[in-house]
Amino acid sequence: MNHNETLFLRAQKSIPGGVNSPVRAFKAVGGTPAFIHKAQGAYLWDADGQRYVDYIGSWGPMILGHGHPEVLAAVSQAMQQGLSFGAPTEREIELAEEIIKLVPSMDMVRLVNSGTEASMSAIRLARGFTGRNKIIKFEGCYHGHADSLLVKAGSGLATFGHATSAGVPQEVVQDTVVLEFNNVAQLQEAFAQFGTEVACVIMEPIAGNMNFVRASVPFMQAARELSQRAGALLIIDEVMTGFRVALGGAQSLYAQQIPGFAPDLTVLGKVIGGGMPLAAFGGPKHIMEQLAPLGPVYQAGTLSGNPVATACGLTTLRLIQEPGFHAALGQRTQSLMRGLHQAATQAGLPFSVDSEGGLFGFFLLPELPSNYSQVMQTKGALFNQLFHGLLQRGVYLAPALYEAGFVSAAHTQEDIEHTIAAATEVFAEMV
Ligand code: PLP
Repeated sequence: MNHNETLFLRAQKSIPGGVNSPVRAFKAVGGTPAFIHKAQGAYLWDADGQRYVDYIGSWGPMILGHGHPEVLAAVSQAMQQGLSFGAPTEREIELAEEIIKLVPSMDMVRLVNSGTEASMSAIRLARGFTGRNKIIKFEGCYHGHADSLLVKAGSGLATFGHATSAGVPQEVVQDTVVLEFNNVAQLQEAFAQFGTEVACVIMEPIAGNMNFVRASVPFMQAARELSQRAGALLIIDEVMTGFRVALGGAQSLYAQQIPGFAPDLTVLGKVIGGGMPLAAFGGPKHIMEQLAPLGPVYQAGTLSGNPVATACGLTTLRLIQEPGFHAALGQRTQSLMRGLHQAATQAGLPFSVDSEGGLFGFFLLPELPSNYSQVMQTKGALFNQLFHGLLQRGVYLAPALYEAGFVSAAHTQEDIEHTIAAATEVFAEMV
């Protein structure tokens, strides 16, 4: 038995499934998860000393790669000054100002500890602001594990075949309306039927929790216009896409195609913490001022705005503003996608790819899907073969076909070429 297997057996005795977040368990793909011992740059090393090119990047935060020296120095310096104060700090203001500068739809931002908290709080704020209860979400989008959002969600829920969690009371989700992603007619019908009861529409602009499915421009435009007309808020969940697909997030890309486009509220996470627990939600002043202590919508957190986490996030955000950062990241990601597509096509496999900045998705399908039921047509067994084939060759992809992939600034062209060469070998075994 190797070290990973020994650790997995031991972990399962004290931690449900041996993991603290379900997809990590490799349950969908089978086998033993790699227990990570250390990480540097684009690489992870497991308990057996095996090195992997990491395309998960802690599920998104590690846009600079692991152990960036300037990030580590900032964290270490912050640590020396104290781990947590439960009182305001100047660094929180600096981080809030930096976020607002980069995402102009936000005048104000509130820092929290996880994407779940951020979207849960944004929903409460939308309900408090509008005085309405209904929320519209889309099948396959995941916004964290808050009760009212755990309905037909993507990510781990899709992976384990329970698109709605047990333990969520019917009364809690009776006001959550789930519609098909990219279906403009369905959204129009919903607003025609009960638009005046809708507090908000929440969506991932590029749904990374069903691998990689873009909201079409007409769909995004419809979501914006219909919610505005009905007096509902549009919440864009950029936990995954924020600062990763572009410096201004996915909303900056839609704004290039939809004149004047801006969401009412934005949810952020992952990159803004640079690997530490930090997330945020924000929007215009008149909405954000509904939050306590100014307004009636309560929201709080013992560790919110933690000084070490804000040092990590702030340094990360400053470093990704170097000129050309996202262009270079995008090119490297595209070269990976091009190479994989070419190798799979040459092997005679159905394969489609998409990417934006440092976020990518590929499907073992001839055409890119546009909604959850199309994503579900992927043959899981084929994906599992690819996943394990790559893992054996030192390439670490997300262990589920419903998850996006992440490239960091630390990935070199050599890493990309190694990955394509490994995939070429695996594709040959798959046909
Ligand atoms: N929203 C999106 C789009 C996400 O991808 C995730 C997590 O993957 C979340 C929200 C929840 O974030 P967290 O896991 O930090 O609670």
